[in-house]
Amino acid sequence: MIRETVQSAHPVLPQRCRPVTEVTEEITTLVADMLDTMVDANGVGLAAPQVGVDLRLAVIDVSHDPECISFLKVNGEDAELDSIMPLVFINPELAFGQAKEFGMEGCLSIRGIRAEVRRPESVKATLPQLDGTVLEIETDGLLARALQHEIDHLNGVLFVDRLPPVAKVSMRNRLKRLLEQQDQS
Ligand code: ZN
Repeated sequence: MIRETVQSAHPVLPQRCRPVTEVTEEITTLVADMLDTMVDANGVGLAAPQVGVDLRLAVIDVSHDPECISFLKVNGEDAELDSIMPLVFINPELAFGQAKEFGMEGCLSIRGIRAEVRRPESVKATLPQLDGTVLEIETDGLLARALQHEIDHLNGVLFVDRLPPVAKVSMRNRLKRLLEQQDQS
């Protein structure tokens, strides 16, 4: 079932989300709905707070572009992107490589705005799965970026918060105008 994605003025988005302590039927339904919602919106990722739920849970699918990463290790072994997509995880932990790069980002909770965001180009992510196993993923490219973007959501951070101060001010004004337009429509 497709759920409504909340927009940037929503009070749940700036909050640090609660850990998932038990995988209930409610959680599995939520995950199925989040996958439907992400696919419907042509998104590459979606975090639970974006559908109004303050839990540390997110989904990612970058399988449309096998070239979007230059390497992938799953639990220490080289792996194919398809083998872990769509990626679903709870209570993630993230470590960063040193090098940083710019990349274009958008967000289903900030429709109409895209911007270049500077982030670490590689990550090591520890991603508990719904079945209790844990995936440890090392990667770069779009998958590393999507992991950082979605895990930021679980900490109440939006990609516009990662922009340099000057860009942030003009972005806030654009965002305000966009939200006003949405209110009127
Ligand atoms: Zn987002």
